Amino acid sequence: MSTGPSPARRPARSGGKRAGDRSAARQASLRVHNLTLVLRHILEATSPPSRADIATATGLTRATVSVLVDRLLRAELIRELEPLTQQRAGRPAIPLAPASGTIAAIGIEVNVDYLGGCALDLAGEQVAERIVTGDFRNSDPRLVLARVAALAAEVMTDLQNDGIRVVGACLALPGLVDSRSGPLRHAPNLGWRDLDVGLMLREHAVFRGLPVRLANEANLAARAEATADGETDTFLYVSGDTGIGAGIVLNGEVYRGRHGWSGEIGHTVVDPSGPLCSCGATGCLERYAGKDVLMLEAGLSPDQPIGVLVEAAERGDERALRSITDAGRALGVALANLVNLVDVDQIVLGGIYAPLEPYLFDAVVAQLRARVLSAPWATVTVRAAKVGAGAAMVGGAQAVLRRLIEDPASWVAGSA
Ligand SMILES: [Zn+2]
Repeated sequence: MSTGPSPARRPARSGGKRAGDRSAARQASLRVHNLTLVLRHILEATSPPSRADIATATGLTRATVSVLVDRLLRAELIRELEPLTQQRAGRPAIPLAPASGTIAAIGIEVNVDYLGGCALDLAGEQVAERIVTGDFRNSDPRLVLARVAALAAEVMTDLQNDGIRVVGACLALPGLVDSRSGPLRHAPNLGWRDLDVGLMLREHAVFRGLPVRLANEANLAARAEATADGETDTFLYVSGDTGIGAGIVLNGEVYRGRHGWSGEIGHTVVDPSGPLCSCGATGCLERYAGKDVLMLEAGLSPDQPIGVLVEAAERGDERALRSITDAGRALGVALANLVNLVDVDQIVLGGIYAPLEPYLFDAVVAQLRARVLSAPWATVTVRAAKVGAGAAMVGGAQAVLRRLIEDPASWVAGSA
């Protein structure tokens, strides 16, 4: 603690007014803190708590909890369930749960072969979804973002028709998103570079007045997986597609790096003398284990869905099996480097890798066994992701909801 003079520590010379202001400010900030505390308790509880349960768990008085619960009910952030019949005398306890179908956040994704939008409510239910497939390699960002706006407008209309209010949106992009100011720095497979995507979105009516944030798709997908899993809170998540991204989840939080640019495993080098990558370097992992390469090496078209490769592998097609094994070896090499660096013992493979599990994972595990220094003492396990297609959209919607949960006061004030 600082021992030097500071304005906050100086006695208030002008008497009671400033002390009174400070005290009022403290009270207000305490009320905001308590509101968040009560909301979090209800949203994170394993079984719906009553007001008395919340008072016991938080140390707040019953009266304070009741006032806060009433505010959260009025703002439609929580709901009351049927009262529990109880043996003892007195009023029956009313369990409290996250509100369903009242408020939602939208997750949107631009990927190389699809655009998607989904909305989640506070109960974690998906209340709207739209997917449009297409080929967005080396695309015109203005045209693509216009389609994104049209898709978001459809999702918004669905929500409005159901009487659901929207708290905000998050756009997942397959590239380097500047976490401070929002511009997209580079999405190699889209061919987009140094674009103020946030500004471009606001050219469309649907995004005006709606808070929109941007994030990297693999980091968002990793967040969705961390929420779905619930058991493991430290793992590497790999999102496989034409590009390959990773999310480093440490103690339940996605490690974003200084700028939010961590996890670009697709551009870690497998062989410096290898083929040219869309990023301009040579021998990147994407050129060995990205979807396009997997399909082409199997004699299939990159435009076909990954299910076609899975079917070929099921038939025992040798080219398909060899393509998958080669990709698995390259993926295992890159992952071994990462595990040696950050010390995690769980790897979760998502995106196109999950359905390839029976043919891909052994090759990955073999490389981890051979290359991870600590492997004899701590086995690195590899499993398929629990969250399927659209994980980044789900993670985006969750990120927006999380911000609301961490600071519900402004929403509550706006709803009063
Ligand atoms: Zn690259």
